[in-house]
Amino acid sequence: MAEKLNPFQIAQQQLDEAAKVLKLDAATHEMLRWPMRELHISIPVKMDNGKVTVFQGFRVQFNDSRGPTKGGIRWHPAETVDTVRALAAWMTWKTSVVDIPYGGSKGGIICNPKEMSDGEKERLARGYIRALGRFIGPEKDIPAPDVYTTPQMMAWMMDEYSKITGYNTPGVITGKPLPVGGSLGRGDATAKGGMYCLREAAKVIGLNLKGATVAIQGYGNAGSFAHELVENMFGAKVVAVSDSKGGIYNKNGLKFKDVMAVKTKTGSVTNYKDAEKISNDKLLELKVDVLIPAALEGVITEKNAERITGKIIVELANGPTTPKADNILYKNGNYVIPDFLANAGGVTVSYFEWVQNINGYYWTLDEVYDRLDKKMTKAFHDVHNMRKEKKVHTRLAAYLVAVKRVVDAMKLRGWV
Ligand code: NAD
Repeated sequence: MAEKLNPFQIAQQQLDEAAKVLKLDAATHEMLRWPMRELHISIPVKMDNGKVTVFQGFRVQFNDSRGPTKGGIRWHPAETVDTVRALAAWMTWKTSVVDIPYGGSKGGIICNPKEMSDGEKERLARGYIRALGRFIGPEKDIPAPDVYTTPQMMAWMMDEYSKITGYNTPGVITGKPLPVGGSLGRGDATAKGGMYCLREAAKVIGLNLKGATVAIQGYGNAGSFAHELVENMFGAKVVAVSDSKGGIYNKNGLKFKDVMAVKTKTGSVTNYKDAEKISNDKLLELKVDVLIPAALEGVITEKNAERITGKIIVELANGPTTPKADNILYKNGNYVIPDFLANAGGVTVSYFEWVQNINGYYWTLDEVYDRLDKKMTKAFHDVHNMRKEKKVHTRLAAYLVAVKRVVDAMKLRGWV
């Protein structure tokens, strides 16, 4: 039976592969296999029943050679420090591949927010920031929302941090609501960044996106915005979409506004009438030009990779493709835009939020999109050129670009 690795071991193995191609020296390689620092904290919270519960939390700063670290905060009952370490490593590569002046970090609290009142959540959010104290900060480490954390929680956390500094410090955290320093364009930033990459990939493989067929797995923030954007930006034809209840297919196309109306009203795209029902597995294997996994990890594997026809695969979801599937897709000529490039639009607009907070000057929506387009387009071509130069699949090419930038910064600083 295959060895079951924890996420941090997977992150280390991915780095090992890139280290081999880049011929990293032992010290540099070792430095990049481990977080630079991490804090484990206990957070006492008075619950609504009057009793105190002590929650365990973490903050992992993986590497800050390129700038302050950046990464979300997850609240999950099954959170582990190894998951947080892996995510912090991946944030390091993500900020590097889009070349924003950040390192990578991540935070987590073991808790079940679904069983907590708003008051309990607020006390936990504030308690987490008090426990971290000056471990974070606008020039040090900048959190953001992630699994089960919200813009409202970011507002509480920013407020608590501002109490520690004694002045308003919006740049300590991103993903805030607009009235307390959020950025325009954050809502659809992840999907939008993916679309800029899709546009560039279509150019390099010679695919006309007007009328091109598209299948999208997942209809949350990433997937539903992707549906709207492929229609509006390119005039592409979305023939299949899905959510956790299943998928729908219509070879003549599914219009965003019709499907979204049904999803909003009934809670699932599967209640849309003018389409055939299909499974989530079948959706991945439809004959389409563009496939957009925007839901779960591990859905494209060695079992189905041979049957995937999407000429371009835009990984808005994190980790949808397994390493064995990557090799099959590369051999078969499917062009994969890997997750940490395809979905980096979110962190890029988070970076813009931080820049606006620090300058106290706020941009229009067009300015945000224009700057996002430039960043994503440059990142796509940096990776594509590396793919051509080293003759490797796009994920490894993205790792090579990202790791090399971090290594260059560490060497110039004289660390290794
Ligand atoms: P979300 O919670 O808004 O939506 C998730 C969607 O996936 C829902 O429509 C849900 O019904 C669907 N889903 C759940 N289980 C499914 C299944 N078994 N089969 C098919 N669909 C299923 O989440 P999101 O923010 O859209 O995130 C989706 C993916 O994109 C995740 O992997 C996430 O890590 C990644 N991502 C999102 C962002 C962002 O800014 N939203 C940024 C980076 C990465």
